[in-house]
Amino acid sequence: MTKPLVAGNWKMHGNANTAAELATHLSLHDSAFVGVEVIIFPPAVHLDRVITAAASSMVSVGAQNMSQWASGAYTGEVSGEMLNDIGCDYVLVGHSERRALFAESNQVVAEKFKAAQQQGLTPILCVGESLQQRQQGQTVKVVTEQIAAVTDLVGTKSLCKGVIAYEPVWAIGTGEVASPEQAQAVHAEIRSQLGSQGANTRIIYGGSVNATNAGALFAQPDIDGGLVGGASLEANEFLKIAQLMVQG
Ligand code: PEP
Repeated sequence: MTKPLVAGNWKMHGNANTAAELATHLSLHDSAFVGVEVIIFPPAVHLDRVITAAASSMVSVGAQNMSQWASGAYTGEVSGEMLNDIGCDYVLVGHSERRALFAESNQVVAEKFKAAQQQGLTPILCVGESLQQRQQGQTVKVVTEQIAAVTDLVGTKSLCKGVIAYEPVWAIGTGEVASPEQAQAVHAEIRSQLGSQGANTRIIYGGSVNATNAGALFAQPDIDGGLVGGASLEANEFLKIAQLMVQG
């Protein structure tokens, strides 16, 4: 298997000082997570200083979003090339908050995935079902459609070079984490859909991960790490989560 991955999505939290402090703290403690790749996703406006703070450490930095377009009259947008230019390695595409609050369709998310790879970034494709969809037995259908939009555009081989984050919407920011068995079942389904090309693709779980529940999730055979929101804003909690992936 490729290196497991623990990512911290800071969302729209913090300020310039807290962003630099958190990145510096994690960088100074990077020996704690040898064997696991750690990526932090600060707000776009703090990317530059976070990249500086994390330079020459093992902490990678990514953006929470990017434009599907390469350049042009798109006021307020940030392109993949701009992110690459300042030293970003990764970008989240299709986070459920962007799908729900900013009306990003499966097609737009697929275009962002493609643009990210064209600009030398590794996209982390977020997929997941709402509570209602789960209750109606549509989890696999929803996740399959979200993934198919990307494979239709870029092909399975390119998808497999990215990362997939399974994030059930009902578990994001709610404190209600999927059970290890629930998460493993969806991860295994995704991996089987990728076929042999997906054997080494990292499929990470997100949704109310913390230092108490991460160990059991990371012990599942098809869970290759975590995408952590709230708990990634607290340095020591996030370090503990990353260490659980090392031990798992
Ligand atoms: C997320 O933002 O991707 C996330 C999983 O958030 P939280 O850990 O707070 O549920």
